[in-house]
Amino acid sequence: MTETDLLQMALNLGMGWKVDHVEFNPDDKELHIFISTVKGSKFECATCGNPSTVYDHGRERKWRHLNFFQYEAYLHAKLPRTDCSKCNGSPKTIKPNWARERSGFSVYFEAFVILLMKAMPVKKVANLVDEHDTTLWPILHHYVEEAREREDYSDVKHVGLDETSRKKGHKYVSIFMDLDKRKVISVTEGKDQHTLKDFKHDLMVHGGHPDTI
Ligand SMILES: [Zn+2]
Repeated sequence: MTETDLLQMALNLGMGWKVDHVEFNPDDKELHIFISTVKGSKFECATCGNPSTVYDHGRERKWRHLNFFQYEAYLHAKLPRTDCSKCNGSPKTIKPNWARERSGFSVYFEAFVILLMKAMPVKKVANLVDEHDTTLWPILHHYVEEAREREDYSDVKHVGLDETSRKKGHKYVSIFMDLDKRKVISVTEGKDQHTLKDFKHDLMVHGGHPDTI
């Protein structure tokens, strides 16, 4: 087994992808893994999922991946655009299974930093993985938002409200709690009638019934 075979198996890239070559220079402390499409492969259309033929490839993109021992590792690939026979219109870039759209990190790296963020502040995580914290905040925001979207408030009956300021003398935030479950369900800026309106809207979006509260 060659090193590219080994990496290909470990990376779980999905159908149609292969590890093309690897660049490793211990002095740079970085490992670069170049992946490419297998000729003749079909990829799911980004819009409808229909297996589609490759139209062309975009520019090379780079994603930070989990460290390879003590070395930072990066994936490089040109994502194909497919010509879907079911969707009319211009070719669309496929969604790889190793990264979210517009993220510069692999999903494995993101899962790792999310795990760290549960135990320590974002700034500390950033230092640990040698990234600027501004590049890590969007990861946290994305997964928090995703988790919030799945929340179901349909059985919320008793709500408590607490007001606090973000910093001393700064903007107020209102914190709404499900008193039965003792769980924060919504946080909105301000402490006026708009706050209540925002909360009502948030509650309804998640299947809640403002009239029964
Ligand atoms: Zn399609």
